[in-house]
Amino acid sequence: MLNIILFGPPGAGKGTQAIKLSERFELIHISTGDLLRAEVKAETELGKAAKQLMDKGILVNDEIVTGMIDSKINQNLIAKGFIFDGFPRTIIQAESLDTLLSKYNLSITLTLALAVDEEELYKRISLRGKVSGRIDDQDRNTFLKRMQVYNTETTPLKKYYDTKGILTTINGIGEIEDIFNSLCNKIQKNS
Ligand code: AMP
Repeated sequence: MLNIILFGPPGAGKGTQAIKLSERFELIHISTGDLLRAEVKAETELGKAAKQLMDKGILVNDEIVTGMIDSKINQNLIAKGFIFDGFPRTIIQAESLDTLLSKYNLSITLTLALAVDEEELYKRISLRGKVSGRIDDQDRNTFLKRMQVYNTETTPLKKYYDTKGILTTINGIGEIEDIFNSLCNKIQKNS
């Protein structure tokens, strides 16, 4: 299986590129943000609790998101692979993912990190906020909170995957197609 983590700050283009990569390589796209937003929309108990945190840019409990990932993997064991978008976001989630994958005799092939500076991220997020209706995209303070959470909780994952020798960083600024081609090249070289 080809199992890829698409890594990067909010607004880096993970969602856009993950959809394109999932089509190109026939991978199952798993976005924890999308899964959580579906729970919010369906007004489940989980969705109601998650919404309070998501609107403020705070992370949802590690066990909840890991549980969602577990059932998605379990439902797709005959797939060609997975592309993880917005997960893992903490060291605990990364360790849980390793444990979970090894349970199925699987592992992460490659972690692709999209590098985009904060000024560009804010431009993209505020633009997305106008069309997506996402509350967390519409307020500068929420953006700053998400960046702070990313810098403190998620950035340490770069070292985690670099130590394993599976981290590659890609420039995430430019045309969507050019970035997509760079990502495809890295995947082809490493699979
Ligand atoms: P995203 O769509 O990836 O930007 O995620 C939107 C929000 O959903 C985040 O700000 C968190 O509140 C929550 N979320 C998404 N993925 C995770 C995750 N892996 N761990 C914890 N919370 C998450």
